[in-house]
Amino acid sequence: MAEIGIYGGTFAPVHLGHIRAAETALASLPLDKLLVIPAGIPPHKRLTAGDDPADRLEMLRLAFADADPRIEISDYEINAEGKSYTALTLKHFSENGDHLTFFCGTDMFESLDTWYHPETVFSLARVVHLRREVTDAEDLKRFGELQRHYEETYGADILQLDAEPLVMSSTEVRSRIEAGLSLDEFLPSPVAEYVRSHRLYGAPYREEALAAEVARVIGNEYRFSHTLGVVKEAARLAEMFSLPPEEAEELKLAAYLHDITKSIKGNGQKELYFYYGLPFGETEERSPKTLHAVTGAYFARERFPDLVTDRIFNAIRRHTTGEAGMTLFDKLLYLADYIEEGRSFPDCVALRDLFARLTEEKGVSEAVLDETMIRSFDLTLEGLMKDGDYIHPMTVAARNSLV
Ligand code: ATP
Repeated sequence: MAEIGIYGGTFAPVHLGHIRAAETALASLPLDKLLVIPAGIPPHKRLTAGDDPADRLEMLRLAFADADPRIEISDYEINAEGKSYTALTLKHFSENGDHLTFFCGTDMFESLDTWYHPETVFSLARVVHLRREVTDAEDLKRFGELQRHYEETYGADILQLDAEPLVMSSTEVRSRIEAGLSLDEFLPSPVAEYVRSHRLYGAPYREEALAAEVARVIGNEYRFSHTLGVVKEAARLAEMFSLPPEEAEELKLAAYLHDITKSIKGNGQKELYFYYGLPFGETEERSPKTLHAVTGAYFARERFPDLVTDRIFNAIRRHTTGEAGMTLFDKLLYLADYIEEGRSFPDCVALRDLFARLTEEKGVSEAVLDETMIRSFDLTLEGLMKDGDYIHPMTVAARNSLV
């Protein structure tokens, strides 16, 4: 029989007060495990507009990544049907005979009477009250009375911890996010970055936050330096082609996100195809190096729904194979990826030189861009033929649509 702590909440988002509370829980009782369980649908709280439980779960994972290994983030309530009632969660986790301790802050402690089947909560777990505010004698008296009431009414087993809390709430954090105020003293930095890069809770978009998140997902310095090269080249091309500011901004985002799944190897790309419900046929089977463009588009849109417009989605999807009828925006991302300054592959150097020469001789125009694009497809096709490789039909179609 294991000693399991249960720490539930909405965690929208998880903040340092929650982390302190979890540390207090572990330091105060001999637990084998502390399960931190975000609610799927909290019965007593309203979720913020656009709430995605997957974000709350991911932020918890980031927040506790380096914490005591006894802490485990559980997706149990997120995956369960209906409202996240603690009574049902405790039932589930007590089924194999483990001994449960349920940890809650003052707001929860004071409202336990109004919960769904409080008698079940009290019968299945010891309840530990973790203070979340500075308390005075009056508060202590109230807590004591409440404890007696629960003990007498439900036969509850209650423990009150008096460790010093970090006073803050997710509500306060959300207001700070919306106002663009510093989150340094409220969120662990990976969580703050996640909030900003995903523009959660009305966070203004911040490039550094997106860059940090992309670097984290790509997880490979060399690849990320290529991404930064594409971002730089995309900005240069956007200016050359006088894109309107909004589109130039989108091109930059597309550049940041274009290789977001490229580090996923082996069967991972195929699994992403299945995950996104995409057909996986002979073409996909035979052109593994092109898959990341498609999975990248879907992944980017799923991870950054507020940032990824259709234009960005399509450009990412087309950035490796090309496609018939590419837009100017698609072509600029494609070219930026091909000729960014960090690329030293001979074909890339040749194309960079060609583009520079053509624009110098003929000026900047979509016709010059197309001439460069045709040459890039030719170089790709020649390379594939030389190696006896399979040619993705979309690359042939892309070339043919330009000649
Ligand atoms: P909101 O402001 O949106 O109501 P919250 O900050 O109260 O959110 P929850 O996710 O509801 O956060 O809290 C999860 C659990 O953590 C609850 O038991 C809550 O009482 C407790 N808790 C919240 N903030 C603190 C804190 N600063 N210190 C200790 N416990 C806390």
